[in-house]
Amino acid sequence: MSQPEAETPPPYRELSPLRLWRNGSRRQKACLFGGWLVLLALCMALGVGMVIQRWSGLPVEFGGVVIYLTIYPPLLICLLLTLTLGWWWGAIPAYCATLSLALYAGMPLPWALLFALANPLGFAIMVIGYQAIAMRRDLRGLNALLFYVQQSFVASVFSSSGALIWSYTNHYDRTDLLPVWQGWWLGAFLQSVLIVGPLMAVLWPRVERWLADHPQLMRDTHTRSRQSLLGLLASVALGVLVYGYVTVGLAEGQPDREALRQTMWIFYWVFVAIVLFMAFFGYQLFVHWQKSQDMLLAALQKLATTDALTGLLNRREADHRLAAEWQRTLRSGHSTAMVLLDIDHFKQINDQHGHPAGDAALRQLAGVIRAVMRKIDFAARYGGEEFLIVLPETGVRGAHAFAERLREEVAAAVITHDGVSFQMQVSLGVAIARQDEAGHERWFSRSDQALYRAKQGGRNRTELDEMAVEKLV
Ligand code: GH3
Ligand code: MG
Ligand code: MG
Repeated sequence: MSQPEAETPPPYRELSPLRLWRNGSRRQKACLFGGWLVLLALCMALGVGMVIQRWSGLPVEFGGVVIYLTIYPPLLICLLLTLTLGWWWGAIPAYCATLSLALYAGMPLPWALLFALANPLGFAIMVIGYQAIAMRRDLRGLNALLFYVQQSFVASVFSSSGALIWSYTNHYDRTDLLPVWQGWWLGAFLQSVLIVGPLMAVLWPRVERWLADHPQLMRDTHTRSRQSLLGLLASVALGVLVYGYVTVGLAEGQPDREALRQTMWIFYWVFVAIVLFMAFFGYQLFVHWQKSQDMLLAALQKLATTDALTGLLNRREADHRLAAEWQRTLRSGHSTAMVLLDIDHFKQINDQHGHPAGDAALRQLAGVIRAVMRKIDFAARYGGEEFLIVLPETGVRGAHAFAERLREEVAAAVITHDGVSFQMQVSLGVAIARQDEAGHERWFSRSDQALYRAKQGGRNRTELDEMAVEKLV
């Protein structure tokens, strides 16, 4: 189920009306603000039309159960605006549409002002959800689709809170309230999923591309996904609780038992769906969290064991591995070799070409070592310009051949830094682990002595530990 890292969509961003006003071209402003005003007017007209046509709480037979649906076209337009451009773009027309229909229907102004907040509230839930979890808004992919369906449900429940005010101000009794409430949330939910969903699948890729091409018009995003996540969880929990309370409360007041029974079944299935969605997203979040923990641990481990400049192991890790390798050699009786390497006259390189050029030389040397050594070997930057390479399962001849090849490859390499090219040479000391010694420290100091002799002997050469020389001849 987990999606590959590359598919993680960018964080939620909104088109800023203020920035569009300040930074947008004349044409952009005309299209976006003009189009939006036309849609706003359309929403208000449709809101009033809905009252005239009585599209509220239409009974629909569905598999033997009567459910109530409310058709509210402004919701479609405003939800699309919210999901594509941002909350303000959808919330304002939604507020105006509901306010105008409420005033047209004769609702007292104070109630109408409150009543009109229902849809903007539902949209806010949607936006919090997308801020909390970066999800594709084109609904392509199972995760994106399920997330949208769940968000639609919770947003619909919040949007339908207005039904309670509507019924109260219209003096409906409790019996009539159920169809209104159910019609509102179910109508909003089905319209979101069945109409807005497919429209988003078609529109979003284009809108997303356009928005990505106009970052100067976008609102800044603040990384506050943890708060958003808490907000999302709280709103989902609250939505489900309110939904359960109102639905059961209204169904209980019904005169005939059949209505109660049917409502209870709808209630049951909604709850099942919500529990499944929550479990699914809980699991997704857990997997995501676990993955980021693993990545963090791996990054920390890499930081603690590697040398920043060259990417080879650092001295601490080299000491660990050296001790372990020595123990392994003791047990197996196989031959293990160590090569110590020091750059010749490195001070001069620094003096002539500068410290950054010296760093470039160190990086290039690390690259040569990596290229020459085998998979089972390990290399470390042991000091400033001193490197250690351990060769398991390697005898004197093999180690000597390795050291000579490395020396030649380094001498042949050309370092170019800031337009200046130069070369370098190295001296190497080789020693084989011995089982008759007390610890790996002796092994190391034999390599060090060999390296010292290589320096004394004129540099750019490999010297073997004296005990190993006997084996070689
Ligand atoms: P030789 O080993 O051949 O005897 O001569 P050398 O010039 O290499 O001598 P030495 O080992 O004493 O000098 C090491 C120099 O390496 C001194 C120091 O400035 C330089 N060095 C150490 N670490 C770094 C580093 O990280 N970057 C750079 N650019 N230079 C470093
Ligand atoms: Mg040196
Ligand atoms: Mg040195």
